[in-house]
Amino acid sequence: MKQHNTSAADALKSDTKSTLATAPTEFLPKHPMSPEAAYRLVKDETYPQTQPRLNLATFVTTYMDEYATKLMNEAVNVNYIDETEYPRVAVMCGRCINIIANLWNTPEKAEWKAGAVGIGSSEACMLGGVAALLRWKARRKAEGKPCDKPNLVMSAAFQVVWEKFCQLWSVELRQVPLSLEKPSLDPKEALAMCDENTICIVPIAGVTWTGLNDDIEALDRELDAYNKKTGYEIPIHVDAASGGFILPFLQPEKRWDFRLKWVWSISTSGHKYGLVYPGLGWVVWKDKKYLPQEMSFSVNYLGANITQVGLNFSRPAAQILGQYYNFLRLGFEGYKQIQQASMDVARYCHEQIGKMSCFCNYNKTLENPLFIWYMNPEYEKTAKWTLFDLQALLQQNGWMVPAYTMPKNIDHLVVMRVVVRQDMTKDMADMLLADICNAVEGLQNLKYPTTSRLACEKQQHQKGKVFTH
Ligand SMILES: *Cc1c(COP(=O)(O)O)cnc(C)c1O
Repeated sequence: MKQHNTSAADALKSDTKSTLATAPTEFLPKHPMSPEAAYRLVKDETYPQTQPRLNLATFVTTYMDEYATKLMNEAVNVNYIDETEYPRVAVMCGRCINIIANLWNTPEKAEWKAGAVGIGSSEACMLGGVAALLRWKARRKAEGKPCDKPNLVMSAAFQVVWEKFCQLWSVELRQVPLSLEKPSLDPKEALAMCDENTICIVPIAGVTWTGLNDDIEALDRELDAYNKKTGYEIPIHVDAASGGFILPFLQPEKRWDFRLKWVWSISTSGHKYGLVYPGLGWVVWKDKKYLPQEMSFSVNYLGANITQVGLNFSRPAAQILGQYYNFLRLGFEGYKQIQQASMDVARYCHEQIGKMSCFCNYNKTLENPLFIWYMNPEYEKTAKWTLFDLQALLQQNGWMVPAYTMPKNIDHLVVMRVVVRQDMTKDMADMLLADICNAVEGLQNLKYPTTSRLACEKQQHQKGKVFTH
């Protein structure tokens, strides 16, 4: 008995010590600590810096309903790849791929469409890119031509995954510059950069930087003529990280997907507008023949032949359950309502911000529930602040609204972006707009330029642009 008491007291003492001490950064601690203390140390360090719902920077789902959350929590220990233990998860995953392929108008008639699950769009993009690379290599080899200089063509507003893909697989990334006059991918300019070594062109549906969609139908048309003329077979991979779950519901008549001749693969993020907690991505090929054999292995012990493709082996299954739950729970109409609501809130904010004389919207109309704006150039000449100052002020009210510079060629432009997700209501939009107005009013009354403004002037001065106060 005595011994028991002593050890309890000791444990308490060592716990107090361990919570007072700083958390280990280099070496594994020698002794265990109580779960309560370890929990507290870890939990305290992951305390969110912003309210997830006020974080308008991220595209990633921060809200799912109670049942979805319960379902996913209950599956926290399920490994997707362990098909002998959880054979139905692979089937459910195959059903999700089928549903998504059909949302994107696949012509494939097979019972199981060719596709793969990934941790996010990044893995999905990688798989789409690798498939394009391997197809191109096979074709070149068959023609007895060298395959040491592959390239990929897309707009300079690519998401960082494409830079990673190109670096890791030694593919040259050819970037079509954007301008204020041409705010998305110009098909003619893209084709001018193509040659026999182009593995694919990657238009984006829901450009991360701007919220715009590249004109994929126009690209497909021009590319068809180009491929006919040259004898090449350059295909399209659509990076539809956001748009993949917006277009089928809000613009079903728009042709951007497998209805187009050269669109051979499409990727999306299940954890963006697929409305599932992170991390989940999907990639689908138009037909099995576009998915190189080397990338897939088949299992047939599920009563059906299921093709599996992926960079990862083990991965959590919970997100797949979450995606399938959403499909069941929401159906087409449910998704449509949610995406429409996000779109309405985004359009409302876009309109209100467009009315403020100090701002200019980057684009007139919205295609996805996100948009960017910049400072009115006339106003900017005499302004004493920048959008970075506005970002900092909004942060004081809990909002995360990022300001950033645009990609190559329009990198003089500082913009601000709002991404509307399903948990952003009209009331919250009004709160945000009121906070923006208040912040701007304060900034307008500044007597002296902010440090951010001074830094910006210095930079602009070096480029020959003149500001006055
Ligand atoms: C977010 C995004 C990605 C990367 O997606 P993850 O799901 O975060 O891996 C790729 N492309 C575009 C256009 C994106 O917006």
